[in-house]
Amino acid sequence: MLLARNTTDDTLMAARSARIASRYAHIPVEQVDCYLCGSDASVILVRDPPFMVRRCRKCGLGYTSPRCRADCLNAVYEHGYFENDTSEAIGYFSYARDADAYVRTFRRKVPIIAAHAAGPLLLDVGCAAGSFLVAMREAGFVPHGLELAPAMVQHAREHYKLEEVHQGTLDAAPWSPSTFHVLTMFDVLEHVPDPIAVLRQAHALLRPEGVLVLQTQDLSSWLPRLLGASWHHFKQIEHIYHFNPRTLRTVLERAGFRIEVRTRQTAGKYFSIGDLLDRCHTLLHLPRWLLAPFRPFARRFIWVNPRDEMFVIARKLERA
Ligand SMILES: [Zn+2]
Repeated sequence: MLLARNTTDDTLMAARSARIASRYAHIPVEQVDCYLCGSDASVILVRDPPFMVRRCRKCGLGYTSPRCRADCLNAVYEHGYFENDTSEAIGYFSYARDADAYVRTFRRKVPIIAAHAAGPLLLDVGCAAGSFLVAMREAGFVPHGLELAPAMVQHAREHYKLEEVHQGTLDAAPWSPSTFHVLTMFDVLEHVPDPIAVLRQAHALLRPEGVLVLQTQDLSSWLPRLLGASWHHFKQIEHIYHFNPRTLRTVLERAGFRIEVRTRQTAGKYFSIGDLLDRCHTLLHLPRWLLAPFRPFARRFIWVNPRDEMFVIARKLERA
């Protein structure tokens, strides 16, 4: 019986892998050199055909090459990214189901952001369904958001009544320069082909005394050393860069920011038990019947901080 159940799970897993491969088989790939220093000398960290993750020998930036061609990336997020059954490869299992966990997570970030903010006008770039904006609105901030996925924009507006959430990217943002006191980007920078250009657009939208708040995974943390290619941030389609404290400081300085806070303390997340069970099934290949006794607790939450992400607050500098 046990064998029969495992065989079924193996079959399902094989079918899932085939589905991932076929779903992204049509995405064109491109080969790139190091984004920061232009060197082509690298150490290969992950081989995941057609993708490879490398670490630049010269500057230490982690980058994917071959990677999805830059002009095809936006399409990845517009459909299915926040609701799919292949989240070991890309996106989320069910963003809407876990939205309450995200609100709880973001509430823990509010005090440190409020302590550095010079005013209430806030823009969250890549805001998904608006969980962070909900947490900040509770604290008196005036929420605005940008998001690529139309379904998430609709959820933010209808479910959370966040009327100032718009579909699109920073380069076409519908606000005037020098509008915001705080601009936030959680888990965004590692996705975009030209991070410095995006940071400069953020710079332009901030008031002179404004702060940028961002979070991204840290390639120099202990977890990628321990797990190697199994590290959960090695998602080759979407995570095309992996920063460390030094390379992150470089991109921020080139865009006109000075780091005031960098910590791993604030970078944890609440997970619903349901989400953790899904991850145990797809990442650790544990059979569903083994996880079934924990299903009644699916909507409970636990705080997890593997300390493999950086939370940064950076002040806008006036560039010459
Ligand atoms: Zn480099």
